[in-house]
Amino acid sequence: MALERWFRRKRPTRGDDDASPAGLWLKCSGCHAQIYRKDLVANLYVCPECSHHERMPVDARVEMLADEGSFERWSGSVEPVDALGFVDTEPYRERLTSVQQRAHRPDAIVTGGATLHGIPVALAVMDFSFLGGSMGSVVGEEIARAAERAADEGRALVSVSASGGARMQEGALSLMQMAKTTVALEALSERRLPFISVLSDPTTGGVTASFATLGDLVIAEPGALICFAGPRVIQQTIKQDLPEGFQRSEFLLRKGMLDDVIPRPELKARIAAFTRLLLAGIGTQGVLPAPLPAPAMAPDEATDDPDGAMGSDSDEEAAVRAPAV
Ligand SMILES: [Zn+2]
Repeated sequence: MALERWFRRKRPTRGDDDASPAGLWLKCSGCHAQIYRKDLVANLYVCPECSHHERMPVDARVEMLADEGSFERWSGSVEPVDALGFVDTEPYRERLTSVQQRAHRPDAIVTGGATLHGIPVALAVMDFSFLGGSMGSVVGEEIARAAERAADEGRALVSVSASGGARMQEGALSLMQMAKTTVALEALSERRLPFISVLSDPTTGGVTASFATLGDLVIAEPGALICFAGPRVIQQTIKQDLPEGFQRSEFLLRKGMLDDVIPRPELKARIAAFTRLLLAGIGTQGVLPAPLPAPAMAPDEATDDPDGAMGSDSDEEAAVRAPAV
């Protein structure tokens, strides 16, 4: 059974590479060139030969985005629990303990406050090396807390997703995080503070289906797999060949699912520019400008919508947001 095989596979992790002499050289998973590890790290984990974007460790990601010395960690105080007593090939509790010891963090996310080219932001960065970046109760809670604290402190929220989706070992508790993170983003929306969501390889399942695609701007790194169900599942279901580049960033940009695809070396400067632009439209204190007057409704249009249920809220919203864009 495919699911069981997935659990049994023992794949080397970035941590294992670090400890071995062989870790001095890495093979690019795009062009298969041998790259000196230090060169790859200096190049933000982008292959100098073919520009393939390797997955980036979470600490390096934070260091890349936050201004030097500005990052203040918020996450780390919430510990996951094994509420279901879940056992697959190994008890969830033991699986958690071993990965926590390796990662030196309680779960698959790091959040904190920082400045980004001088702009105060909250960062939420997912760690794919921690149980596939799966979103369990702690990941959802940390994202929700980061969004609410960002709103309280007048910061923009910048998230970087890397996730296999909901954490199956937490069952329905994991699925509830989709609703929780979605609702928490409302706090930012009420203050008119921007949320910029960066999708890195891979962003899938319940993360794609919740906060990660709810950004005011949704941007992706080149070549990232972004989907709900993966291409193999879809191919097996519809029994048809999929188009080239299906569910990759560039494909999704062409289909209108993303606002932009931005190479990693440009990411920080572009996020800063976007954030500045969005904040400029609303005032840096997050103060909502006075709504524009609603357009007068002609009598015949009014009869089409006797309850007045359609249009009023969304029109006002559009009018408020228009100057910001
Ligand atoms: Zn390469």
